[in-house]
Amino acid sequence: MGLVILVLGTPGVGKTTLAKQLSNELQVMHVELTDLVENTGYFIGYDVFRDAMIIEEDEIMHYLESLAKSGRSFCYSGVELFLDPTCVNFIFILHCNGQELRKRLRSRGYDPQKIEENVQAENLGIVEGWIRDYYPSNKIFSVDTTFKTPRETFLEAMNIIMEQGFKVS
Ligand code: ADP
Ligand code: MG
Repeated sequence: MGLVILVLGTPGVGKTTLAKQLSNELQVMHVELTDLVENTGYFIGYDVFRDAMIIEEDEIMHYLESLAKSGRSFCYSGVELFLDPTCVNFIFILHCNGQELRKRLRSRGYDPQKIEENVQAENLGIVEGWIRDYYPSNKIFSVDTTFKTPRETFLEAMNIIMEQGFKVS
C-alpha cells in the first residue's frame, strides 16, 4: 500500500496550501479535487444557488480508491469524500476561527452570503462531524490553522505523520 492522505475542512481553512506542501515534502502526487474534476470530467453541472460544482462523487471516490489499491501514494485536498477507510492512512481536518476565515474568504472574493454559510458550517464543526462519524478516529487529526503560518501548519502535520512511523525518503 502507498501513503494516502486526505486534507479536509471548510473552504478557506488551508487545505490546498497544506496538501501542496505535504506532497512536495513526501514526494507523492497532489490530487486537488477541482483539478481532478476538470481533468476527468466527473461533474454533472453547476449549482448556481450554492455557487458550487455538482460533482460525480461516486466516480471520484471509485477513481481514488483504485489509485490507492494499485499502490499509488497521494495527498488529496478538497471536499470531504468517504473512501474505503482501509485505503486511507491520514485524514487532516483543518480548522480556522470565524473572524480569520471571513478574512480569508473575503480576499478570495466570495460573496457575503457564501462567506457566512461557510463560517457557520465551520463554527458548527460540520465537516469534522461527518468525518468522525465515518472514519476510524486513529486516522483523524484536527489542526487549527487560525494563529499559525502555513509553514507551522505543515510542520505540525509532518510531525504527526512521522510520529506514526512514516519515514520521509
Ligand atoms: P482551502 O484549500 O482550504 O480553501 P487554501 O489553502 O486555499 O484553503 O488557503 C486559503 C487562504 O488561507 C490562503 O490565502 C492561504 O494563504 C491562507 N492559509 C492557508 N493555510 C494557512 C495556514 N496554515 N495558516 C494561515 N493561513 C493560511
Ligand atoms: Mg482549496
